[in-house]
Amino acid sequence: MADIHGNLEALRAVLDHARQMGGFGRVWCMGDVVGYGPDPGPCVDMVEELSSTCVAGNHDWAAVGKVDTRDFNPHAAAAIAWTDAQLTPGQREYLSSLPLTLQEEGATLVHGSLRDPIWEYLVDTGAARATFDLCQTPLCLVGHSHMPFVCTQGEGFRRVRGEGDGVALGPARLILNPGSVGQPRDGDPRASYMLLDIVAQAAYHYRVAYAIGETQGKMERAGLPRPLIDRLSQGW
Ligand code: ZN
Repeated sequence: MADIHGNLEALRAVLDHARQMGGFGRVWCMGDVVGYGPDPGPCVDMVEELSSTCVAGNHDWAAVGKVDTRDFNPHAAAAIAWTDAQLTPGQREYLSSLPLTLQEEGATLVHGSLRDPIWEYLVDTGAARATFDLCQTPLCLVGHSHMPFVCTQGEGFRRVRGEGDGVALGPARLILNPGSVGQPRDGDPRASYMLLDIVAQAAYHYRVAYAIGETQGKMERAGLPRPLIDRLSQGW
């Protein structure tokens, strides 16, 4: 999963769905646990409690002052300032300690891309080629663009559309983006994630409905920017 963005309702819905689909051994998280959403602290706690393997996103490090918010748009920067004030010292320590990349079981995890781990949007063939060149594993998992896709080396990008839309892990090398849990941007407001079956060597993409109104109500009460509230129901 990637880009939870402080959306606890969406995170819970995804975990419940994954358990219904047979459960999971590990959670791999490609960053941006916080930023935008109304529950940054509880989302950090949940990701940590699941003993997830997690890499840093631009919002994670911005929330703890490790990167500048000058490159953020004004609404995102306002949400980062609000998020900063919600985190406990322990949660800040967790976010600060997240690495830029990690390798585990034949997969490399990174938020953006391997040539620019927290900033580059991996959405075109040039960026994909650069990451394939740098990647030392058969599989690379990314987030950041909030766009779910499968990118096969030598073939390019394919959009995935939930409902268990699947892809074989190998023999071709792959870059996968599971889409965003907490702020999808592909026109479908439902939470987006993938289940990887390491034994069967396959990945499956799912969309999960969650109580968007509940998240939006919390954002209103927190005084978060109106456009960030509205976009959740529009899925962009
Ligand atoms: Zn993000």
